[in-house]
Amino acid sequence: MPNPKRKHTPHRRDCRRSANSKLNIPNTGKCSNCGAAKMPHRVCPVCGFYNSKLIIAKKIKKVAQSNTEQEG
Ligand SMILES: [Zn+2]
Repeated sequence: MPNPKRKHTPHRRDCRRSANSKLNIPNTGKCSNCGAAKMPHRVCPVCGFYNSKLIIAKKIKKVAQSNTEQEG
């Protein structure tokens, strides 16, 4: 079995760990309507708005219906 000739130095070990532990958080923008974090150039998953226009109204309707059902 081939074995490593020398033990890696703590510097090399720590450099490797620091490079591998970096978490890449995807770019997020704020929704112009509700202010939630969303992916740029995509419809807001919370309110369904894009470019301050309502694109997906189903989610809001479902929420509104569920609210009215709970109330009534
Ligand atoms: Zn939104």
